[in-house]
Amino acid sequence: MSTPSQSKPFPKLTSKEEQHLINELTHHALSQGLLIYPPAPFENYHPIQAPVTLYPTPFPSKEFEKAVSISTKFNELYAKVVSERKWLIEVISKLSQFDADFTGKLYESYKTALANGIHQPVSLALIRSDYMLDTATNQIKQIEFNTVSVSFGGLSTKVGELHSFLNENGLYGSNGSRYYETAYEVPVSDSAKLLAKGLYHGVSYYESSQKIKRKTAKGESIPSTATIVLMVIQPGERNVFDQRAVEYALFQNYGVRTKRVELPSVTSQVKVDPETHKLYYDGDEVSVVYYRSAYAPSEFTSSETWDARVVLESTLAVKCPSLLTQLSGAKKIQQLLTDESILNKFLPVKDELRTNLQSTFVKIYPMDDSELGLKAAKLAFEQPENFVLKPQREGGGNNIYKEDIPKFLKNLPKKEWAGYILMELIHPPVFENPILKTGEVIKEGLVSELGVFGAYLFDEQSGKVLANDYSGHLLRSKTQSSNEGGVAAGFGCVDSLYLY
Ligand code: ADP
Ligand code: MG
Ligand code: MG
Repeated sequence: MSTPSQSKPFPKLTSKEEQHLINELTHHALSQGLLIYPPAPFENYHPIQAPVTLYPTPFPSKEFEKAVSISTKFNELYAKVVSERKWLIEVISKLSQFDADFTGKLYESYKTALANGIHQPVSLALIRSDYMLDTATNQIKQIEFNTVSVSFGGLSTKVGELHSFLNENGLYGSNGSRYYETAYEVPVSDSAKLLAKGLYHGVSYYESSQKIKRKTAKGESIPSTATIVLMVIQPGERNVFDQRAVEYALFQNYGVRTKRVELPSVTSQVKVDPETHKLYYDGDEVSVVYYRSAYAPSEFTSSETWDARVVLESTLAVKCPSLLTQLSGAKKIQQLLTDESILNKFLPVKDELRTNLQSTFVKIYPMDDSELGLKAAKLAFEQPENFVLKPQREGGGNNIYKEDIPKFLKNLPKKEWAGYILMELIHPPVFENPILKTGEVIKEGLVSELGVFGAYLFDEQSGKVLANDYSGHLLRSKTQSSNEGGVAAGFGCVDSLYLY
């Protein structure tokens, strides 16, 4: 596929044309469900258009294609990390001493579930590997690898469709012509459909292993024996429409129903058969427990919430993710994998994919009392402007940036330092792409983060991988001035790619 080697500038619209574009964009976004609930306190609980850029953001096609091509290799790597259980548990149990509140609790829950009996060795991961384009090398560099509750796969499809609609309808060009010439240049992510496909891998594995029939003759309704996906959600979730898009794709493409339960209500609402360990919700047998929750300590406000995690873990249902798969996404694991000797253990063959995968790593240091850890502590105080300090947390808003690092470390007891990692800052290009947010156009420089979704179903004991897919992409952008880019957290927006 030939693509222009130089990126075109953003379309130049008159203010009248821009106003017309905004009207068209808003109607399309609202019609297609590119929606989010507004932040609390809710004035009225009506959804609003999710914050979005007016145009797709330029991204080099070569680097995008690299990210896609290494996607299943990353899946393979993280499946191996989990099946090398002894190694993983050693790392996690040590880390639990420094981060008792969350890593420690997750690990304790795993041990309790193990003592009760974990009856399903197969687990499902729907992951998202995040990258930024590094201006120094013009290559993608990995920000992090998320193994729990990855979001925006649903809205990503919708924003791609939105930008592509605006392009096809001549709203970016002059005289009603397309501004971006080919569909390749403004790709639509199939993530809603592909994440649903990932869930279906879990459903179909469970149903065939339990000899449950789902197939019906054309026109017949779904058999009552067919299982459901149980989506475990947070109370007061704002990003509901993103979740719904995946849920509807699962129903539309595979005829699988999804039911939703809030994490704190799990223990009072599910039933587990003590003989078969099958999980039931509302009379339905559950084949896959899909967490869109359970990644932040703030969610675990009562002991019932931790109990929920333990109860579900022991059941026969396939968990997406299991506790160990969730723990494999710890930032500490990411740091360890940048050590060549550790990477060799999991991916011993140094082929092109592994080389490309490894080329996305920046330097990440432990903050422990090893030789490297001592070097890191020195760097953190001497040149903090080059680093971000990260705790073992998910969901945005937890990191410490640049000049804030020394002060933060001074106030942190030294015995807790090893719960953090120190990562080199990546410097992405800045683009003047306007954001439309709650009806207002914001014109500030933006930086973007590419997410690549993946799905893998694997046996945690044998390490056998039963399915391994690339599951679409996502582009999120945020104003350059904000350190963190969570769309739901309020300082970012969904975007799409213009590949050049
Ligand atoms: P979380 O799991 O909370 O999402 P991340 O590691 O993704 O944590 O960090 C949150 C945000 O911080 C990222 O979305 C990105 O905007 C910024 N960030 C993280 N690491 C880096 C880095 N090495 N260089 C530049 N920005 C970073
Ligand atoms: Mg994360
Ligand atoms: Mg992140």
